[in-house]
Amino acid sequence: MNQHGVVHFALEPLAVELREVIVPEIGDTDVLLRVGAVSVCGSDVHQAYNTHSWPVNVPVILGHEFAGTVAKAGRAVTRFREGDRVVSETAAEVCGECMLCRTGLYNLCPARKGFGYGIDGAMASYVKVPARCLHRIPDTLPFELACLAEPHSVAYNAMLVNSTIRPGDLVVVLGPGPIGLLCARMAALAGANPLIVVGLTADAARLETASRLGATRTVNAQEESVEAVVRGFNPLGADLVCDASGASRPLDLALALARPDGQVTKVGWSPDLIPVNINPLVQKNVRLQGSFSHNFPVWERVIHLLDRRLTHPELIVGLTSPLTGWRAAFDGMHEGRVIKSVLIP
Ligand SMILES: [Zn+2]
Ligand SMILES: [Zn+2]
Repeated sequence: MNQHGVVHFALEPLAVELREVIVPEIGDTDVLLRVGAVSVCGSDVHQAYNTHSWPVNVPVILGHEFAGTVAKAGRAVTRFREGDRVVSETAAEVCGECMLCRTGLYNLCPARKGFGYGIDGAMASYVKVPARCLHRIPDTLPFELACLAEPHSVAYNAMLVNSTIRPGDLVVVLGPGPIGLLCARMAALAGANPLIVVGLTADAARLETASRLGATRTVNAQEESVEAVVRGFNPLGADLVCDASGASRPLDLALALARPDGQVTKVGWSPDLIPVNINPLVQKNVRLQGSFSHNFPVWERVIHLLDRRLTHPELIVGLTSPLTGWRAAFDGMHEGRVIKSVLIP
């Protein structure tokens, strides 16, 4: 049986197209998922423009942020059956044997392959998913919002697991893309105040959304000195700076903004290799933390937050489209007109 899928087919810019592909066969421990909604990630857009910093197994169907209905369950699957409404984690393949897999940090397994770059993803009618990746979702959570569980989990892991935020902490988020905005929301839920979100002139609409998500101050770094604003709140600097800019360069600024004994968490990345002055890290006793992906307990909490609409997920979805409109959905995000696009295959 055939279906249509958004396929990344070569390692060059704009090598993405809607193609006829085969509906996958499932193994005993997999389910075949009828995709209800799949949101477009900044990483999908990076792959489309060939500006990604991870290895991609072309040709591959894009899409790792998805929710849907179990259409068929493999023979050994006991916890899920046809008709169940679910979301899926992204670690499509892990070794299951290493220390990280055995301690629940399978998202960091060196053998990990994710949907949409290592394994066929969900920008198609059907996707094959190992049952261990699935989480049930309540009937009150529509697929168009449930698919956002993945970027929410990235932000939750960065701000609430890999960083420490106490109510009243001065928190700065660099980069108001979807991940930066969700990081800001997670910080707001944790009681960060002041909460400063930094962007550029092109980010005007995103900074507006940041305020609606709980930022107490937004800064256009092309018009104002971020350092002056932060030091206006506390001359020592910020308790936590989250770099969600998707570039390497702002790490310098993040290290400069952190207070002595403060933290910097880096969640955005890019292929740029840049010289950085890391001396403030030592001189100020700063904790520099990378944050990658997410695991089971993060997802369970995020599904609850989404179901209760505590993160205001509807504020970040700017465009909903059938699969045939994938290009406009990608371009809207690339050009900054849309924070997040959602495809309904
Ligand atoms: Zn994503
Ligand atoms: Zn492993």
